[in-house]
Amino acid sequence: MEAFSLGRRATLTDTRTTCPYCGVGCGVVVERFGEHFAVSGDNEHPANLGRLCSKGAQLASTVNTDDRPDQPVVNGVSTPWDTALDYVAERFWQIIESHGSNSVALYASGQLLTEDYYVANKFVKGAIGSGNIDTNSRLCMASAVAGHKRAFGSDTVTCGYRDIERADLVILVGSNLAWCHPVLNQRLLSARTSSSTPVIVVIDPRETPTCANADLHLPVLPGTDAVLFNALLAWLDQQQAIDTEFIQNHVDGFAESLLAARAHSDLSESAKQCGLPVVLLERFFKLFLESNRVVTVFSQGVNQSSVGTDKVNAIINAHLASGKIGREGAGPFSVTGQPNAMGGREVGGLANQLAAHMGFDAPSVDCVKRFWGFDRIADKPGLPATEMFDAIASGEIKAVWIMGTNPAVSLPRGRDVHGALKGCDLVVVSDCVADTETIRLANVVLPVKGWGEKDGTVTNSERCISRQRAFIVGSGDARADWQVIASVARRMGFDKQFSFRNSADIFREHAALSGFENYGKRDFDISALAELSDDQYDELTPTYWPYPKGQAPTRAPVEIFSSGRFYTENQRAKMVPIRSFGVAKTPSLEFSLLLNTGRVRDQWHTMTRTARSTRLNRHSPEPYVEVHPLDARQHQLRDGDIASVRSQHGEIRVRTRTTRAVTPGHVFAPIHWSSIHASHGRVGTLFSGEVDPHSSQPELKSEPVALGVVDIKTHALLVHRNRSRSWPAQVAYSARADFGDCTVDFLGFQGQVFEVWTQLRAELSNANEILEREWTSGARQTAVIVDDALDTVLLVSPAPTHKAANWVSALFEVPTLGVEQRRSLLRGAPILRDIGDGDGQTLCACEGTTIEQIERLVSTGIGNSEQAIQELTGAGSHCGSCLPEIKQIAREE
Ligand code: SF4
Repeated sequence: MEAFSLGRRATLTDTRTTCPYCGVGCGVVVERFGEHFAVSGDNEHPANLGRLCSKGAQLASTVNTDDRPDQPVVNGVSTPWDTALDYVAERFWQIIESHGSNSVALYASGQLLTEDYYVANKFVKGAIGSGNIDTNSRLCMASAVAGHKRAFGSDTVTCGYRDIERADLVILVGSNLAWCHPVLNQRLLSARTSSSTPVIVVIDPRETPTCANADLHLPVLPGTDAVLFNALLAWLDQQQAIDTEFIQNHVDGFAESLLAARAHSDLSESAKQCGLPVVLLERFFKLFLESNRVVTVFSQGVNQSSVGTDKVNAIINAHLASGKIGREGAGPFSVTGQPNAMGGREVGGLANQLAAHMGFDAPSVDCVKRFWGFDRIADKPGLPATEMFDAIASGEIKAVWIMGTNPAVSLPRGRDVHGALKGCDLVVVSDCVADTETIRLANVVLPVKGWGEKDGTVTNSERCISRQRAFIVGSGDARADWQVIASVARRMGFDKQFSFRNSADIFREHAALSGFENYGKRDFDISALAELSDDQYDELTPTYWPYPKGQAPTRAPVEIFSSGRFYTENQRAKMVPIRSFGVAKTPSLEFSLLLNTGRVRDQWHTMTRTARSTRLNRHSPEPYVEVHPLDARQHQLRDGDIASVRSQHGEIRVRTRTTRAVTPGHVFAPIHWSSIHASHGRVGTLFSGEVDPHSSQPELKSEPVALGVVDIKTHALLVHRNRSRSWPAQVAYSARADFGDCTVDFLGFQGQVFEVWTQLRAELSNANEILEREWTSGARQTAVIVDDALDTVLLVSPAPTHKAANWVSALFEVPTLGVEQRRSLLRGAPILRDIGDGDGQTLCACEGTTIEQIERLVSTGIGNSEQAIQELTGAGSHCGSCLPEIKQIAREE
């Protein structure tokens, strides 16, 4: 399928919808050509104004695939929907009757639409009467929610994307914006093309691609962000730069918070604690003081910490104390990871929220109970994610329904999560893919609609509600999530409360609840949308909240705190004294390095969708660990070796990338790989699951680990056309990536080259044309040709072979191999000839340009600027997602 990334205006026959990946929430236009689609950025969507990143640009290649479940499966048997729904309803009911309503739980996802989320929450907290619904958003931004509530009395995101463009200073804390929110990063950089602002400061232990465009990078030690912001508060006070009028009129808790911050008033001591030169700290503080408009963007680097909530409040404290909040271009700004994390927060998808930004206080419980029309509803919070899976392991929870997420991969202590699900009486999984590690542990699998088939709304990081519209009929017998939950609820006797005809019905009820007995007490109010007709709902254009009944809609988020009125009881914001710092566990003699985690640019979550795109797979086809060269040397690791990364809880085996982007003593590994795509790549197995005491968000940015070399005597690259081929036996390392015309297996064995080659060679088909080659190094290559096209290439060598993947896979695109291509095959992969042309990791997903090609251009002086590289290779000229990396390479070279 074709994909175009240039923005366009939708025509009457196009479908306007939103990208299903990150919290930027870009609008896309889908154009249909028979069975094919083209996806472009929507010029009229306020989030992206036509832009798309590499993931959004490749969306067309991820729809209509065949790895979808067709029919419900109950205990391994394909089952008609009615029977499966009867079974789920009956089993849930039996378990509740025998063990009480808290013996069941639901684990949802920021991938769900708001309508699905609303019905799921109403089902658990209303029909079942338990608080046990939590979501994978717990892993993403629960600390931001807790921090907002402590400071503002409500979970209010104060800023919008326009504020980033209009700020004098943008501080990015724990946010690799260039990779995780690329379109927002592009908006920020575009704002700088016409002026010298915003100045950009990145606060991150790693030198991420985001740093390529930063004016200042503060590589803080993990867990010390709050020390830095406490020190800033104390320093602002020393400089008499506190906005005393704002504090007097609108803020409580200043004196106590300043007292706590004064523990960090010694600049050199604070710099030492943060691992920074004092001059960097001073420069940052001066920038903060001298900038009238400051936006502090924070993300998972802040939230995924055992002191995440305190970090959030340390940031908010600095903004409240300086009055840099509630006006254009100023405020703390939490950007969410997932496309509908905000929608989940609106409906109450976290276990400690009830619904519509209401908590479990008695008046809220009474209000929601009357609105929903149940005799009783949950009146206390349920178990958050990690505790929920502990309760499953202990047998306290006996049935769990998992929707659109893969906790067996993403949660910490992965091995325990597997054990918990294996031992659970009833595991129901609703998903739009056929195979995940979680599905493999389910008793019941329910096929639901995926992106392109679903119909509803999502809310992005700047409180913008957008329609996600269907443009294809669901695969097989898939149903919408909300339909499935409502069907089960009706079978359990709740007909009246779950009689929704369509998603518009649900949205109207959700909007009505937001305004019900609100009277301006709650920030989330979209009651103006409660009476939309079905047609108006279908045509709904991006709409910002709050949007109470009687008010006009806005095309950009309003400055929600511009009046200085907050949602606490006395309407004053609250500064919180911050006294918790550091990481949950410090390195030891055995586990001497700290592991940090994050995302790669072109993959999403556990790769269930993005791994369908061959272009996206080429950017990072294998799991890897970034190691500083000094640590690599100390642990006898070379670039390209297979490393063992081991913690107290498990081990992963991943490719080594040596880089100075991480500091000595720290390593970094991306989170995406599951056992579907790699034999030992599941990073979640390494983490202990220490949680923040206020948000229950687990620490996923810091775990002590040991580093070692996996004894790989033979590296193998197997490129073939058989997607269902299983990995060979006795493999010590394996990873698989779909490159379109072929599947690439990266393999490592502990046996000797000849032994491995003999074993793998025996499994190749007996075609009439086989080209073979052996080198003095012991490396061997076998190419199987069927009907003049490549069928399989096997390359085994004592040295790493992974860099040959691009060269070999390119030959699979040739329908009829000519003499020159056969000769080139006989000469062998360039990696073996030490030439390297066209080899290596792909940098530009749109053009297929590799890192090595760009490095060569830079080192020869031909590509002496970002612009020259763009002109010479085309890289970076389409979606622009790779531009920060191009700049980084140019700078390093
Ligand atoms: Fe999708 Fe996020 Fe990329 Fe926008 S920035 S296209 S929402 S992944």
